[in-house]
Amino acid sequence: MARASLPVFDGLSTALDARIAQALHKLSLVQKHASWKSAAEAGLSPTQGQILTALVQEGALTGSELGTRLGVSLPTVSDSVRVLAEKGLVSKKPDPRHPRASLVELTAAGRKQAQNARTWPDYLASAVGTLTPEEQEVFNRGLLKMIHALQESGDIPTQQMCVSCTHFRPNAHRGPLPHHCTLVDAPMADRHLRLECREHEEATPEAGAAIWGRFSGA
Ligand code: SF4
Repeated sequence: MARASLPVFDGLSTALDARIAQALHKLSLVQKHASWKSAAEAGLSPTQGQILTALVQEGALTGSELGTRLGVSLPTVSDSVRVLAEKGLVSKKPDPRHPRASLVELTAAGRKQAQNARTWPDYLASAVGTLTPEEQEVFNRGLLKMIHALQESGDIPTQQMCVSCTHFRPNAHRGPLPHHCTLVDAPMADRHLRLECREHEEATPEAGAAIWGRFSGA
């Protein structure tokens, strides 16, 4: 009787999870390098460039909101905002939500600069565009799980994702739009899930765990 043998490459390959982590690391290095290069060409630090990008994508934000989105400390944000203000790229205005807080917003010059900054990750979007819609959905769900795990372990700050939002109802429906956002009262598919949503309201730890359990099938 012929002896069953394992594929040769099972013995020659590192574990798949380690290779996926390695691939993500390579992608992050590529992106970091491109961001640094583009920011340096514009006379900005990488953090300053990221602040401009966040403001053009989301509108005016507080220093704390910027820190959360960028994953950097408030003093780092404050230093970068001060330099950007000196360059005439951002200004501050009162935050109508909190009388003692202020919002950072782009000036006209900052908006122009940010439009250039916004093109920095475009080549990554082009690469993602080479995946089929099915591959993109699987990839997106995998990334969401990874970001959630990093958030749970405290390795990244809390993100304003649907999967941690009090308004998110995972797998509430049958069919192609299984999830539901109670804030806008509309069904959603995986492809609609937000990584950053201004209306996000953090669920309590217990509710968040239940939401994640229903979403991930855990
Ligand atoms: S409010 Fe935003 S983050 Fe919350 S479920 Fe709706 S779309 Fe998602």
